[in-house]
Amino acid sequence: STAPGEHHASTNWRFDNTYSRLPDTLFAAAEPVRVREPRVAILNYRLAAELGLDLGALGEETAAALFAGQDLPPGSHPIAQAYAGHQYGGFTMLGDGRAILIGEHRTPSGALVDIQLKGPGRTRFSRGGDGRAALGPMLREYAISEAMAALGVPTTRSLAVVTTGEPVYRTTPLKGAVLTRVAASHIRVGTFEYAARRDQELLQALADYTIERHYPELAGAPQKYLAFFRAVADRQAALVARWMLIGFVHGVMNTDNVAVSGETIDYGPCAFMNTYDPATVFSSIDSGGRYAYGNQPNITQWNLARFAETLLPLIDSDPQKSIPAATEVLEEFPAVFEKNWLGGMRKKLGLQTAEATDAELIQELLGWMQKTRADYTNTFRDLSSMAEPVGVQYQGADFRAWYARWQDRLGDQKSEAVALMRTVNPVVIPRNHRVEEALAAAEERGDLSVLRRLLDALVTPYDERSEHVQYREPPTDESGYRTFCG
Ligand code: AMP
Ligand code: MG
Ligand code: MG
Repeated sequence: STAPGEHHASTNWRFDNTYSRLPDTLFAAAEPVRVREPRVAILNYRLAAELGLDLGALGEETAAALFAGQDLPPGSHPIAQAYAGHQYGGFTMLGDGRAILIGEHRTPSGALVDIQLKGPGRTRFSRGGDGRAALGPMLREYAISEAMAALGVPTTRSLAVVTTGEPVYRTTPLKGAVLTRVAASHIRVGTFEYAARRDQELLQALADYTIERHYPELAGAPQKYLAFFRAVADRQAALVARWMLIGFVHGVMNTDNVAVSGETIDYGPCAFMNTYDPATVFSSIDSGGRYAYGNQPNITQWNLARFAETLLPLIDSDPQKSIPAATEVLEEFPAVFEKNWLGGMRKKLGLQTAEATDAELIQELLGWMQKTRADYTNTFRDLSSMAEPVGVQYQGADFRAWYARWQDRLGDQKSEAVALMRTVNPVVIPRNHRVEEALAAAEERGDLSVLRRLLDALVTPYDERSEHVQYREPPTDESGYRTFCG
């Protein structure tokens, strides 16, 4: 048998736990709870290799114990992070109620990433919750976050899901599980809201740390904190534009779910839109449509306003100066978003140059899609071909008139356009009914093969492979489809 530590050494962890060196009001020591029977549900070998971790050298049992938090590697320093946040508009104190950061790992490329367990039991911030997670929602996060990464969207990643052998009690007993999440960091707008409400020294320590970790080019900039705000706003504008371009509905854009790094975080009630409709909402608790597909850019700006409020005292001690400076950046947001979105839309239509009438051409297509309830993803992919689309939905006069205008706009650049379009318009997205089917097989029968096949398609979203044709079809009807926070 092997001495303890040898397995860990073979996974090549390189921990450098910088967050733990910040003032200790930002976190609390935490310990994963003992669980009965940790077992691997899925391991992300591809991601592990990118991180410089040799998971293949671990036995399944060792990996299960590791990712259930039962056997933490040397050099880890488990903590739960404190934060606050605006949830559906209202301010609340929060914190990692069911997540433990086991440490920050240095990858072969030199990047520092958070390794976080989601669902390992209670922490100081659990309030009334059990600190646990269920298998379905953790596999859902795994599938959708890996799909997002393959689509080129900045996102947290998923390294592993293990079952605990213990039930978690929701409305019914469910299989307990732990997800290992990898992130540039878990610093949120809500982390700044927490620090700003305590004291300015803490706020400044957090801001300086975040700048050094995520925006090091700003460290010596004049008006450093204003530049920081602008840089975060720019990344959020780019991020929400990416979501809009692929039809992603985040579903719970509370400020505690906005990562200052610019990554997508918190895959709870998120889902991809099928038929194009800006009013699309999937989340069971978002009855007002605050986080509807079409509202996401506005909500991002609203969240950035909450972020700006935290930074005001650092931007300038005189509010007469800090408020107008921050407001100016905020007011630029719609134009910055529009620039990102229009740039992305031009690519989706194969337009390699910019013309003033492009926005109108795009809006007309979207208007037609909304009116005819066209599938958003498939429409763009159907257009990504030299041949005219043949489906019955494309035979109407409106579409044909639009198509002729678009062909005119492309001129003799059609083949270049199509080549570009095929790199940005996915064939395969995580369609809700396919994800649900894969989760049901895993939860009900312990059968992970359906999920593995789906993942195989999701990680090569632009490839047209005959074995993936089943994943292209939208559901016949999903008017009642609802998602949950998990
Ligand atoms: P979310 O809606 O996923 O962003 O979660 C909001 C807050 O609720 C976060 O502070 C979570 O840590 C906390 N939370 C969610 N589920 C649980 C749970 N089962 N036990 C304890 N805290 C939880
Ligand atoms: Mg959250
Ligand atoms: Mg969540």
